[in-house]
Amino acid sequence: MQGLIVPLRIQPALVAGEPASLTSWLHLTDRCNLRCDYCYLPHVREDMSSETGRAAIDATFRSALANGFKQVKLKYAGGEPLLRFPLIVEQHRYAQSLAEKYGLGLEGVVLSNGTLLTESQISTLCSLNLRLMISLDGLGAHHDAHRRYAGGRGTFPDVAEAVDLALANGLTPNISVTISSRTAEGLPEVMAWILERDLPFSLNFYRENELSASHEDMRLDEQKIINGMLTAFKVIENNLPRRPFLGGIIDRANLSVSHTHTCGVGQNYLVFDQHGQAAKCQMHIRKPITDVHVADPLAVIRADQIGIQNLSVEEKEGCKTCEWKHWCAGGCPLATYRATGRYDVKSPNCNIYKALFPEALRLEGLRLLKYQDDPEVVQKIVA
Ligand code: SF4
Ligand code: SF4
Repeated sequence: MQGLIVPLRIQPALVAGEPASLTSWLHLTDRCNLRCDYCYLPHVREDMSSETGRAAIDATFRSALANGFKQVKLKYAGGEPLLRFPLIVEQHRYAQSLAEKYGLGLEGVVLSNGTLLTESQISTLCSLNLRLMISLDGLGAHHDAHRRYAGGRGTFPDVAEAVDLALANGLTPNISVTISSRTAEGLPEVMAWILERDLPFSLNFYRENELSASHEDMRLDEQKIINGMLTAFKVIENNLPRRPFLGGIIDRANLSVSHTHTCGVGQNYLVFDQHGQAAKCQMHIRKPITDVHVADPLAVIRADQIGIQNLSVEEKEGCKTCEWKHWCAGGCPLATYRATGRYDVKSPNCNIYKALFPEALRLEGLRLLKYQDDPEVVQKIVA
């Protein structure tokens, strides 16, 4: 179901995606072989231990059971999680045993920069049913403008090779593209590269943080971002993918399902750092509010009134009467707070969103027309 036409009696979901799912971010290490200009981490040489990882997974399942979730989603992250590959394997096997014991669904994804990926890791990921997300922000110099090794060398050739290695070995990675004013111009080029390989993708806008603020040229210039995105949309139009893209085509908006909150923060989201401390969002990983030892960390996170407040779009000034509100939900609460000092107002990216939403819907219409005879695509529309 595309969510474009929704019966009046249906209330929007709280969070887009699977509201029945509890997502847990496991920060396996703070170490990374890259030094991306937008990274929010200090890269201290600290790793999560096997015991802490298990305790975080235990805590996640306790919260899932206590709060009636049917499914757990684990994000293996860092730092660079492939630096801790044996830990990923061990933790995911443990999570699989708990999912089976408690009769819950389990999903897992590794969020990687791709540079350390090997053929044997790919085969292990496939055997564990783990997905892989790789960050790629442009082709060549545009990617390297954001994402370089600690020594300063660009990472593009190694990332591109990793994507092709994964594909050649039967694993389709999801590509996460972070767009800033520095790289927006290169977006059409990378979009063509992604579509050539028929890869799922998400386009995310750069979010300034304390460590990245000095890079002023990355700040979102409305016109640069809109131009880059619209030119990339042209590339999509000329090479329409079969798979749906409305869930990840415009930053944190999700045009595939009507919802009231931008993300799961404060609702169905836990972030565990390397010491087992739990925060509400990965960008606030250094501001934990609970830990693995409490009976139900999600209950503490839901009750918190001090950290990030992820309000309903109905509570955001400027959004209440917006025709896009149930697809946009008002943008990332952290980005809004950083720009305005408030959570209860519309996103600082609102003008960009409004310029792009109609074009994204048009693209979806063209996709549906192109694949109107494809039984699988049609089935999803009428489901
Ligand atoms: S941020 Fe802008 S586009 Fe999004 S819901 Fe609010 S008013 Fe609408
Ligand atoms: S608060 Fe912003 S950065 Fe954090 S999970 Fe939500 S959308 Fe992402």
